[in-house]
Amino acid sequence: MQKNIGYIHSIETGGTVDGPGIRYVIFFQMCPFRCKFCHNPDTWYKNPMGIRTLDNVVSDILKYKNFFNFSGGGITVSGGEPLLQSEFVFELFKKLKKDNIHCALDTCGYVDINDTIKGVIQNTDLVLLDIKHINTQIHKELTGKDNNKVTEFLNYLSNVNKKVWIRQVLVPTYTTDIVYIEGLIKFLDKYRGIIEKVELLPYHTMGKEKWEKLGLKYQLDVEPPNNQVLQEIKDKFINSGYDVLIN
Ligand code: SF4
Repeated sequence: MQKNIGYIHSIETGGTVDGPGIRYVIFFQMCPFRCKFCHNPDTWYKNPMGIRTLDNVVSDILKYKNFFNFSGGGITVSGGEPLLQSEFVFELFKKLKKDNIHCALDTCGYVDINDTIKGVIQNTDLVLLDIKHINTQIHKELTGKDNNKVTEFLNYLSNVNKKVWIRQVLVPTYTTDIVYIEGLIKFLDKYRGIIEKVELLPYHTMGKEKWEKLGLKYQLDVEPPNNQVLQEIKDKFINSGYDVLIN
């Protein structure tokens, strides 16, 4: 991948759910996972129609600087998986930090920690780390890949004391069971010093239509979690001392 060219799926200029304040959210193309619950399968593939230059993206972002300042917002790179284009993200964040723009990285954490990734993290103000499942076998069943790299990534964030919001999709039969939630809290407790917030993302079926349009067979046959289940899970986190929100 090139540092001055990004393969971008789409851009949202008034985002309010991917980090603090009003955010310019860049959804990058391509992803190493194939999550059964994915609601953005249209980001999985490389499409040259979405090519943007670094300078073009930076100049567009700078138009929104006042919105970032008054709302406490900034930019978020998401996807897909932005770290598959880490050279571009590194250059982007370096340029934006010169203008004091808050940079958030929404990632699945499935990367090898090399110098470019270290540079991205150094220029990142906040990492939104998506945890798919803490059991590596079930992680593989859900995403197609095991979770070893994700744990290594979280260890690295802990080593460099990087602020993190943990995001957990709540998928009935996979991640809504109270025993699973207790195990997750125990796992996260090791990283409590860097975790600022836990975001619970209830599974929904809004992406199903996209799978069908792409000619893909939708992989899950479960209903979204009900409010009682969501409240029980939220209470578990609150009682364990976490700042938690449901999005
Ligand atoms: S990591 Fe995100 S974009 Fe990639 S497959 Fe999973 S849900 Fe979809």
